Amino acid sequence: MNLAPTLNADLHCHSVISDGTLTPESLAARAKAGGVELWSLTDHDEIGGQQRAMDAARAIGLPYLTGTEISVSFANRVVHIVGLGFDHQAPEIVAGLRTTRGGREARAREMAAGLAQVGIKGAFEGALQYVGNPDLISRTHFARFLVEAGHCSDIPEVFRRFLTEGKPGFVPHKWAALKDAVGWITRAGGVAVIAHPGRYDFTPTEEYALITEFMAHGGRGIEVVTGSHTPAEFQQYADTALEFGLLASRGSDFHSPNESRIDLGTLPPLAARLTPVWAELADRIVG
Ligand code: AMP
Ligand code: MN
Ligand code: MN
Ligand code: MN
Repeated sequence: MNLAPTLNADLHCHSVISDGTLTPESLAARAKAGGVELWSLTDHDEIGGQQRAMDAARAIGLPYLTGTEISVSFANRVVHIVGLGFDHQAPEIVAGLRTTRGGREARAREMAAGLAQVGIKGAFEGALQYVGNPDLISRTHFARFLVEAGHCSDIPEVFRRFLTEGKPGFVPHKWAALKDAVGWITRAGGVAVIAHPGRYDFTPTEEYALITEFMAHGGRGIEVVTGSHTPAEFQQYADTALEFGLLASRGSDFHSPNESRIDLGTLPPLAARLTPVWAELADRIVG
């Protein structure tokens, strides 16, 4: 298989197993139809869709890497770490992700209580209507409910007004530790990747701390071309990847045909000067 930096790899998206609206099977078909040449399903804190994604990809001749996107607490912020090419049956990552998902229901009940205080009733039950996996109720499901119930006109508005720090439906939560998330992925034979680094609003000092701690724990990759980055950030994080000797990754972060700006496989390719994460994962590609 050709593993050049310009490969149309899409190594970040979400299914109904987390906060996407399509099944693993529909995503596989959509990726193939969109010209994706190497795919990964990276549900939040979940690998319950991996076997389905892998089987669906194999059936249509789409090369596949296992994936997940782990929620991590770092420097009072939430950082996402994508894992690629790990053994999805390795007991340590299975247990670690189960623990990471563990507090989501209690958090969701607290979010609903906060929303009730500003007059939005029934948000827990409302959000649950959109949940495909009862273990993984997320802010996205609340956002879908608030839009459908007419409280906001779109999902970004819900996050701005209700679901971000300091807003009525925001509940601080303790996620996985950076060291643990990177360790689970790495010890299961995969590569850990910092997801959408441009999204965290870190100062340069904080970003340096994230990257150096991540690397000290064995992390090796960073997303450069993602649906969350501007074209200027594609350049900026290409430089960051080269500066730190990190492997570059690419992924749309597709969630839903109705909500996502960027479809599977439609982003620009990685710059040829980068070493892509898939070059290091050749022996982990299935199909
Ligand atoms: P949670 O893991 O429950 O905190 O939910 C986080 C998810 O909410 C992310 O994975 C995104 O899918 C979504 N999200 C976060 N911030 C925003 C935003 N500003 N606009 C739209 N979706 C967002
Ligand atoms: Mn999401
Ligand atoms: Mn993310
Ligand atoms: Mn994501």
